[in-house]
Amino acid sequence: DSFQDVEMGEIIMSNIALTRYTRPTPVQKYAIPIIKNKRDLMACAQTGSGKTAAFLLPVLSQIYTEGPGEALQYPLALVLAPTRELALQIYEEARKFAYRSRVRPCVVYGGADIGQQIRDLERGCHLLVATPGRLVDMMERGKIGLDYCNYLVLDEADRMLDMGFEPQIRRIVEQDTMPPKGIRQTMMFSATFPKEIQILARDFLEEYIFLAV
Ligand code: AMP
Repeated sequence: DSFQDVEMGEIIMSNIALTRYTRPTPVQKYAIPIIKNKRDLMACAQTGSGKTAAFLLPVLSQIYTEGPGEALQYPLALVLAPTRELALQIYEEARKFAYRSRVRPCVVYGGADIGQQIRDLERGCHLLVATPGRLVDMMERGKIGLDYCNYLVLDEADRMLDMGFEPQIRRIVEQDTMPPKGIRQTMMFSATFPKEIQILARDFLEEYIFLAV
């Protein structure tokens, strides 16, 4: 098992080497080729399994190899996460993998100064990590457009539902400007797979692959 098994572009590969990840974890080993093959994915994986890199590496590598273009207020990829702490962790990992690649990650979350986050978004963003409530706020203020969002990740989906974020998540994913399922690529990660997550997977994913590690 090696990260070399999947072609991810030279800069991403050298950034993996800088993080000192030597071998993919099981969720990385199985999820990375599925995502690179442009399939929708429902993955059941716990915190600590390495799930963050499992979605960031193939998504960043797709953006990078397709040519990220100018960073706009229209991200190409969106990662939704339940808490500020998790959003920041995902963002920090994205920055490491995107280093020197011209792919620009941004993060927005509630409970912090929105003005500063807006100024950061105005510099443009390729991959946005967001908590659902703050993203809805940004959308309503016209500070972010999801028209070009071809990659959508719901991380810790069960926790987002436990925290009552389903209305905000549906607002974001089901708005008219978001590319529809089957056009965008959608990946859901969840520690558990109860009925409510199955319904969300049915609504958001197109002919998805189910992975449990
Ligand atoms: P996660 O489940 O994504 O929160 O990752 C849990 C921890 O494992 C984080 O501290 C990562 O930096 C680390 N990690 C993720 N993938 C690998 C890997 N392939 N090799 C070593 N450490 C890893």
